[in-house]
Amino acid sequence: MPDRIEIFDTTLRDGEQSPGASMNEQEKVQMALQLERLGADILEAGFPVASQQEFDGVRKVAGVIKKARVAGLARALPGDIERAAQSIEVAERPVLHTFIATSDIHLKHKLRMSREQVLEAADKAVRLAKSLIGRVEFSAEDSTRSDLEYLAQVVQVAIDAGADVINLPDTVGYTTPDEIYAMFRYVISNAPGSEKVLFSSHNHNDLGLAVANALAAVRAGARQIECTVNGIGERAGNTSLEEVVMAMKTRRDQYPYECGIVTEEITKSSRLLSNITGLVIPYNKPVVGRNAFAHEAGIHQHGLIANRLTYEIMTPESVGRSRSELVLGKHSGRHGLAKRCQELGYDLTEQEISQLYEKFIGLADRKKEVFDDDLRVLIVTTRDESFEVYHLEQVRTTGGDPAMALVKLRKGKQEFVDTATGDGPVDAACMAVDRIAGVNGRLQEFSLRAATPGKDALGEAHVAVEFNGRAYTGTGASTDIIEAATQAYLSALNKHLALRESQATEGKTG
Ligand SMILES: [Zn+2]
Repeated sequence: MPDRIEIFDTTLRDGEQSPGASMNEQEKVQMALQLERLGADILEAGFPVASQQEFDGVRKVAGVIKKARVAGLARALPGDIERAAQSIEVAERPVLHTFIATSDIHLKHKLRMSREQVLEAADKAVRLAKSLIGRVEFSAEDSTRSDLEYLAQVVQVAIDAGADVINLPDTVGYTTPDEIYAMFRYVISNAPGSEKVLFSSHNHNDLGLAVANALAAVRAGARQIECTVNGIGERAGNTSLEEVVMAMKTRRDQYPYECGIVTEEITKSSRLLSNITGLVIPYNKPVVGRNAFAHEAGIHQHGLIANRLTYEIMTPESVGRSRSELVLGKHSGRHGLAKRCQELGYDLTEQEISQLYEKFIGLADRKKEVFDDDLRVLIVTTRDESFEVYHLEQVRTTGGDPAMALVKLRKGKQEFVDTATGDGPVDAACMAVDRIAGVNGRLQEFSLRAATPGKDALGEAHVAVEFNGRAYTGTGASTDIIEAATQAYLSALNKHLALRESQATEGKTG
């Protein structure tokens, strides 16, 4: 029997920390459910002490996930550990993940602690964690820049204190395959008790080596890989789940290991994440990029027709991509639409299906063929509407300098119209929205892309807008790009207003 590798997914924690990837509670839950279908063994749901919102998100995920383990992250501090324990205690199989840095550079400049103090803190943290939650993972932050002898000492302390999993992260994305191999070999053979625990590898991709480093760590004896969907994460990201899993699957001769990932769920997971966060997947991204299975060169195409093995090392079907995308049209009906959404990995309520169906018909009127990617965008924008305070009725703009916009919004039965000028039509439309709602939003990020190829493509707009010092994301979609952008801006505003109202009511009741 080949060795089993545990897949520890940190899309909801390390991934969510990457700029532009923040998710609300509902989005986290939706992504978590998909990650469970994907077959991840452990889901790291967040860093509970970071904020109340983060705590609630982790607790929600812990409550809905039944099969996978759910991990919560905590620094090696009693307050962090207790808070993390509270947030994950509702999980069927909770894991408390605590960490402290072990490199001299972190000890000196960040922690301002001596090596002895860190040993003591690690010991205390693991013991406290273990007393609260049955399974504990300990991470020696910045392992790959730590003194090897000292690292083995810290690991021994954590094992003696009861840690079940020891993670040796390449926090700054600095190591190389040969070096990480040597590090794991050294620690596993020099830390007494290492045979009792599971070793884990967590890598960052600053030098593009994260996947290679994870595989080298496995060769050296690690049996858990920490990774994220689409490789999202701090800076250049983490080990990409789909790449490391497909490397093991495709090169079983080199990596004779098994894992529980249902590879056919990879594409769905990747697209869902991209839609929720608005983070675009590069066209040439291995496994999940638009072009990952597209063969352009004539000589390749010719070879493929003769025999797929000539140029194809893995099939698109094996990662859940169909060679031809299913197309829906006006006559697909409500039932066909609901079925397709389910196949794409979205669990929608009856009410959401009804709202979606209306939009779908509207789009099918303007665009003959509705592709999977169109549907994904419609679903995300429909979900955003659960926060709806203002509804966009109309937006009209004229170019020129300055550009002018007329915006008509509806709130319940009331209608509001205002005009504004700005630097370009999108800016003008956002200003008009601000005037109506009496707010002052600061657009921090704005991206626009076509959901599908073609002149009649559905334009998908993603924004991050700051209202009163807090950033909200919004998504909008329309075959008209100004309308898509205005909708995205309005959806961010609606989230802000919905939150403000809920806080106002909370204040009243207690
Ligand atoms: Zn990390």
